[in-house]
Amino acid sequence: MQKKTVKDFDVKNKKVLVRVDFNVPVDEAGEITNDVRIRGALPTIEYLLEQGAAVILTSHFGRPKGKVNDKLRMEKIAQRTGELLGREIKYSTEFVGPLAAEKAKALLPGEVLLLENSRFHPGEEKNDPELAKTLASYADLYINDAFGTAHRAHATTAGVADYLPAAAGFLVEKEIEFLSKALENPERPFVAVIGGAKVSDKIGVLSNLVEKVDALIIGGGMANTFLLAQGLEMGASLVEPDKTELAREIMATARRRHVNILLPQDLIVANAITETAEFRVGLPGELQGTEMALDIGPETIKEYAKLLKTSATVIWNGPMGVFEIENFAKGTYMVAEAIAASGALSVIGGGDSVAAVENSGLVSKMSHISTGGGASLEFLEGKLLPGIASLNDK
Ligand code: ADP
Ligand code: MG
Repeated sequence: MQKKTVKDFDVKNKKVLVRVDFNVPVDEAGEITNDVRIRGALPTIEYLLEQGAAVILTSHFGRPKGKVNDKLRMEKIAQRTGELLGREIKYSTEFVGPLAAEKAKALLPGEVLLLENSRFHPGEEKNDPELAKTLASYADLYINDAFGTAHRAHATTAGVADYLPAAAGFLVEKEIEFLSKALENPERPFVAVIGGAKVSDKIGVLSNLVEKVDALIIGGGMANTFLLAQGLEMGASLVEPDKTELAREIMATARRRHVNILLPQDLIVANAITETAEFRVGLPGELQGTEMALDIGPETIKEYAKLLKTSATVIWNGPMGVFEIENFAKGTYMVAEAIAASGALSVIGGGDSVAAVENSGLVSKMSHISTGGGASLEFLEGKLLPGIASLNDK
């Protein structure tokens, strides 16, 4: 997938509308607790300013559901953005309307304006074309740098691109580059590691990837359902009996395509999901009563790590166990280490998997950490994301 990027346009003296993801976490007092998302957008903003553009930023913040909500105003976000950029930025207390239009019109090259929360407007999430048109009238060019909302067809993420030349910012460019390199043109062997809580969360990902990979490694809670589908007793483990048919279908597709599908051959089992719970190594099929499978076992770790070390491309989505608890985290961290050591092109997606990689200190060893949970999941399902589809082709 080749989309135009911010570098494909001459932006000197142009007004550029940039969709950013400033949906930052805040505490009860409304103070920003983590500004990673704002920092992430700085390279695109700084590049545009250096090139002599006037930059209009738009983002949603929280879930105001189409109504103005004073608790979800973006004033503090504007302030923090200014601090991080090292320059004062302008802020419009209106998303669209006469005030916003006037501020946008008066904006000079080298200046930055942040518009109020886009979700104050009922037309944003409905992708109202009138709203998109109004917003587009403030600028000469549209840049999408908010990958986390690229799976939403909203006015600021997709609709506005109908009325302006449209291109990817640096963050979105990197996401497209790595995700599509892995999915469309992978160096082989290509291995997918899929885990996490449930099969039902990742049906689309499993069905899409089983058609593309050379090997499919399954772990986490979803492995229990695959084991159950083979008639193995899983005790009180998290299982989805209504998804066993689907698990069998995926295993059948894997066989037909000669995909090597790996399931846990041993497990860490315990009677409770707590820090102090006693645990043992158990085998699929011999779990008793209240016992639950909470991580992959030592033999499984060895087998998975061995395969991963020979891979050339890896996509990982979903932890191998209840990694939030130390005694059930080993499988997840050992998989992270094996991927890091493989030298493969590695793409990590999913909020919890990304958190696990961050905890393990291996971020710099991975080729790409995808920032958008839902968006990267839909990308891995093979869906065309509206926020990317709407950008101009190269
Ligand atoms: P991601 O956010 O990376 O996409 P998911 O949200 O699908 O991952 O899954 C992560 C969750 O799955 C974690 O909270 C973890 O505790 C849980 N989980 C993993 N393995 C098991 C298991 N065997 N039993 C119960 N929960 C599990
Ligand atoms: Mg999750």
